[in-house]
Amino acid sequence: MIDSHAHLLPDFVKNIDEIVENARRSGLEAVVNSAIEPHHYEYASALENKNPDFVFSTLGFSASHIQTIDFELSYRKIRDYPSLVAIGEVGLDYHWIKDPYWRKKQQEVFTKFIKLANERQKPLVIHSRKAEKECLDLLQKNAEVPVLMHCFAGNLEEARQIEDHGWLISIPTAVRNRKKHRKIARAITLDLLVVETDTPFLSPIPGEKNQPSNVKYAIEEIAKIKETSFQEVDKVTTRNAREFYQLKTK
Ligand SMILES: [Zn+2]
Repeated sequence: MIDSHAHLLPDFVKNIDEIVENARRSGLEAVVNSAIEPHHYEYASALENKNPDFVFSTLGFSASHIQTIDFELSYRKIRDYPSLVAIGEVGLDYHWIKDPYWRKKQQEVFTKFIKLANERQKPLVIHSRKAEKECLDLLQKNAEVPVLMHCFAGNLEEARQIEDHGWLISIPTAVRNRKKHRKIARAITLDLLVVETDTPFLSPIPGEKNQPSNVKYAIEEIAKIKETSFQEVDKVTTRNAREFYQLKTK
């Protein structure tokens, strides 16, 4: 099992060491940690060094906080960060950002990160909320590297478009209780799916914060939906994540 997308950051979670230990004990092969503001990046680096071959970092830019995050600083740090396995999450968030000026800004920033990913030859992890069409347009126009749509909740037509490009869709543990993720898990080939928790968000267990060890619930649910075994979904989604991020796990 690989948790393809989690936020193990002091802004969101307190007992991170314990959570990482729990992920190891639960049999995970790796956790991909997504830092989304410049002040997260150093912590991500420290956590990665503390957990070699187990915790990996992707660095991105929180689209919903575009009004407050220093883009130039974020861009420079991501450009110069040696060990990142992907750039992301980056993308568009029209749920939180409604002002046309800032939506336009989001598109500019997103495009710059896509081009940076091309330059650095790193895959892209995409956040898209109520902006799927614009996101896919910008990716189709600019992306020259592999793409993973994190926690994707667009419609089936958009999911098909993603599938046609051979891009990955990440199914969150929330697939247990959210119809839109179930629909996508049913429609899209297992060869293009990975699983994630989005820790500490979207917990499958009411009243608890999410954590990487819960990723098994997404695998379990996909197995049910696709009428196949847990082992098969585990094998394929783990392989997909390992190849996408080019992880060197033990
Ligand atoms: Zn996330």
